[in-house]
Amino acid sequence: MLSPRQCLYRLLAEQPEALNGGAGSVWLNELIWREFYRHLMTYFPRLCKHRPFIDWTDRVRWQEPSEALIAWQEGRTGYPIVDAAMRQLNATGWMHNRLRMIVASFLVKDLLIDWRQGEQYFMSQLVDGCLAANNGGWQWAASTGTDAAPYFRIFNPTTQGERFDKSGAFIRQWLPELAEVPEKAIHQPWVWAEKQKVEINYPRPIVDHAEARVATLAAYEAAKKHGM
Ligand SMILES: Cc1cc2nc3c(=O)[nH]c(=O)nc-3n(C[C@H](O)[C@H](O)[C@H](O)COP(=O)(O)OP(=O)(O)OC[C@H]3O[C@@H](n4cnc5c(N)ncnc54)[C@H](O)[C@@H]3O)c2cc1C
Repeated sequence: MLSPRQCLYRLLAEQPEALNGGAGSVWLNELIWREFYRHLMTYFPRLCKHRPFIDWTDRVRWQEPSEALIAWQEGRTGYPIVDAAMRQLNATGWMHNRLRMIVASFLVKDLLIDWRQGEQYFMSQLVDGCLAANNGGWQWAASTGTDAAPYFRIFNPTTQGERFDKSGAFIRQWLPELAEVPEKAIHQPWVWAEKQKVEINYPRPIVDHAEARVATLAAYEAAKKHGM
């Protein structure tokens, strides 16, 4: 077990310029996020009682967690970057921070499923599961927390995949059924399969991102208006 102070002292011994925005500063910022979320839990205990930081967000009318939640958990949404990330989580208990943001945004803002369902599932799978950091990450993604992404900021899961896994190497590692799909089609395999008239053992998207975006914005706006 390493305490955050040990991490900080070691960093400052090796890279003192981290304090002034030099090498190591990004990593220092990550440690600060960790401390920040822990402090929030202490100063706002409602956060560990399934409550959002921003009250009006509790009025968002979420979809019933149904088959869509299970498809997300099992990595069968039809969005390759989301599915690869969830399969990595299920197999290893870990997922990179960028992927956590992508899959969290997808569950909340594409499927309009209550962020607490995702928070709970992450805790059941993560080897680094931590009440404060996990809650903070989910509330950030769901726009319900302090310093959260604004509710109208909605990741596009296809362009996120194109940006952060350009060649699709990560996707292919976790979705072997897409091994034969060419690089430029890897983020929308169903489009390629239709054009080529080939069968792939991979689902079509369970939701249309553009339509889901509109519905989510409306749900958040209704909740916000109602509380004013
Ligand atoms: C939806 C969601 C859920 C998350 N759930 C957890 C969780 O249960 N447990 C957990 O430890 N982290 C969680 N995080 C934060 C982050 O994803 C992980 O801490 C990070 O991926 C760990 O990778 P690393 O050790 O390579 O971090 P590095 O990038 O090397 O960062 C160094 C250390 O800083 C801390 N850290 C980094 N990023 C964050 C962050 N965004 N928030 C809080 N602390 C951070 C971690 O202790 C990490 O080990 C979550 C993020 C999101 C978006």
